[in-house]
This record gives sequence, C-alpha cells and structure tokens, in this order.
Amino acid sequence: MRTSAGIQSELDLINQVFGEDDSNEENVIALADALFKSGETNIYARLLHILCHLRLDANEAKSTWHDILNHRDFLESKLGRGTGFRVAMVDYFVNKSHELKNPKVIEIRVYAETARQAAIDELTGIFNRRFFDAALEREIKQALRRNRQFSLLILDIDNFKKINDTHGHTTGDAVISALGKLLREIIRAEDTPCRIGGEEFAVIFPETDAKGAMVVSEKIRSEFAKLKIAGTELSLCGGLTTFPEDGKSAHELLERADQMLYFAKYSGKNRIICYSQNKRRTARYPVKWEFEVIQKGKALKGKSVDISVDGISFELDTKTKPGDRFDLTLHIDGELVELPVEIIWVDANTKSHKLRAGARFLTPKPYSISILKKKLPQ
Ligand code: GH3
Ligand code: MG
Ligand code: MG
Repeated sequence: MRTSAGIQSELDLINQVFGEDDSNEENVIALADALFKSGETNIYARLLHILCHLRLDANEAKSTWHDILNHRDFLESKLGRGTGFRVAMVDYFVNKSHELKNPKVIEIRVYAETARQAAIDELTGIFNRRFFDAALEREIKQALRRNRQFSLLILDIDNFKKINDTHGHTTGDAVISALGKLLREIIRAEDTPCRIGGEEFAVIFPETDAKGAMVVSEKIRSEFAKLKIAGTELSLCGGLTTFPEDGKSAHELLERADQMLYFAKYSGKNRIICYSQNKRRTARYPVKWEFEVIQKGKALKGKSVDISVDGISFELDTKTKPGDRFDLTLHIDGELVELPVEIIWVDANTKSHKLRAGARFLTPKPYSISILKKKLPQ
C-alpha cells in the first residue's frame, strides 16, 4: 500500500525506527542518522512530527534534532544521570523553544495502533472513508504542485442486497473482504485502495491518465467476476474520473465518478464507465432555454443548464434515469426544436426538488442541428 505520504508512511516509519526495541533511543538516533546519510533528508522532520506533532521543514528539523541532542548532554551532565533523548526533547520544546505548551505522553505503540485504527477499515484491511477523504485532497494538492494527472475510481458491488438476502450477511461480508484483498493484489504500491461505504470502494491512482486507470479498473472488474464465494454470482460497476480534465475539486471528481457509476448500473451493470470517454466533447454554452417533454401523454416542463451541439444538461420536475429516451422540445426564441435524447447521468444528490440530469442527442434531425448551431454563441 501507499508509502509516500500520510498515515501509512508514518506507520511504516514507526515500524522501521521503533520496531525492534522502541525504548532503545541510541538505536533510533543511529538509524535516523543513517537514513539521513542515505538521502532521506527529511527524516528528522518526519521523526519530530511522529514524536511531538510539530511540523518543521527539513533544515529546521535537522538543526532542532541536534540542538535536542546537545540539550540532552547538558541535562545529563548537570543531573549526573541519563535522561535520554525524549525527556530532553520535551524539556527543550516546553521550556526552551516554547513550541509545546501542554504535551501529553503516550507509548509509541499505543499511538501507532490508534493511528492505524483511525485509517484502516477492519473488514477489508484497506483504508477507510475518513482516510480516503484526506488522501483525495492531498492527491489534488500534489498533482497541482507537480503538474501531474491522477485518476479516481469508484466501485459498487452489483445486486449486493440480493447476495445478503440469498446467502446471508456472513457471505456478504466475505465478498466485501474478498474485494478488498483483490484490490490489494491488483493495484500498484503507490495506489490508494479504500472502502468508502458498505459495498462501495474507491481507488486513487497517482500519476495515471484515464487510459491507464481504465486498464487496471477493467482488470479489477473481470477478476472480481471470477471469484468463487459460496455460490454467489459476482459483478461490480465503476465510475472513473481523471484530474484535472474531468474535475478540479474532490467534489467534482467524486460527483462525476458517481454519475458514471449510475450510468453503468442503468446500462446493464458489470461495467466500468470512464467520464472522459463519455462526456460531451464539444463546447457547452450556459443557455437557459425552456423545453417540454411528453411523458405518458403529459407535457413536463424543464430548463436547460447548458447545451452543446451534441448534448444538454437540464433541470426537470420529474424523475428520470440513465438510459431513458424521449423527445425534448426546446423553445428557442419562439421556434420549437424537437430533439430525441438519451439520459446519460442523473444527479441524485441535488438539494433542490428539481432533478438535474445530462443527456446526449440521438441522431438529431438535420434542421435541429442547424438551428442549434445558428442559435448557440460561436
Ligand atoms: P446495485 O446493483 O444497484 O448496486 O444494487 P445493490 O443491491 O448492491 O444496492 P444497494 O447499494 O442499495 O445495497 C447495498 C446493500 O449492502 C445495503 C446493505 O444491506 C448492504 N451492506 C452494506 N454494508 C454491508 C456490510 O458491511 N456487510 C454486509 N453483509 N452487507 C452490507
Ligand atoms: Mg451501494
Ligand atoms: Mg451495490
């Protein structure tokens, strides 16, 4: 699992430095120096963060570390007995630099276990929702800083209620746990697998474009369908988005991955759908045009949110779902333009009572396209 940042790397370091004998400080100090010499220039910053949660930059941390060692020698010579690094560190930060005011002392193993529990989902052994939210924000910052892409995959097991109902919750749990294990086996060490809900999972693929992420996602989908667990029929759906082209914030990326997940469910399940391969490629114009939809002999009114020559997103007072097809009659400057559409996504999380949805135009009549092209700003 991911070792480059965050809680996991902190746990890895605690294991590496304090693993053997966490009370042998001479070992810890020697190991820190060795790691520094081998090129890990921020090792003192990372250790001071683990030991007292202070954020110092690499240079500051290195000089502080050595100041604490000198302070320890001073204390020991005055007291005529050993105090150790950590006692000197607390005295240094509380009484000399005043960076700590109210410290709490805790065994490092207790801390590590608490940190692990806060980040890991017990059933699957992969990261939990809380960790995922922080990891996604961190990934966006890193991608921005380095001018890189990354991809986000959201997964949801198909017909999971039926699995629980037919085979029992224990089997349901075994399926969830097996998907966690499968993710760990398939993805790379730098990818972040998370369980973000009951039978919902997410994977962050750093420095990966949509095409690369799609290859791995398809592998996850096909391998999951091959699993044999107590006679269950297994499949899953996925929605894939890529930063920055499909969304610039965690909210946008998640919302669009979710839309693709919806689309995957309604177009037959057992599939992964990638936002960049399905979004409307042409320019969108934020024109607010009224339209009508005839459903079961009733005319329903809606309003476009934006529109392009090959698709529309809109608000409507009635329920619709991905895959639905109907004729939409747009009112453009007194003209009526009839366009057959297919719903691609529906935003289930909208706060207003109106439903927000996106649709693509189905083989539009030539005159509709020509009118739209004339009416849309160039
Ligand atoms: P769909 O194909 O549309 O995803 O259908 P679904 O049945 O999977 O749909 P839904 O997401 O509504 O149902 C998920 C169910 O998963 C609801 C809940 O009973 C069950 N579930 C959630 N968490 C757990 C869990 O930890 N263990 C087990 N055994 N079941 C869970
Ligand atoms: Mg679900
Ligand atoms: Mg489900």
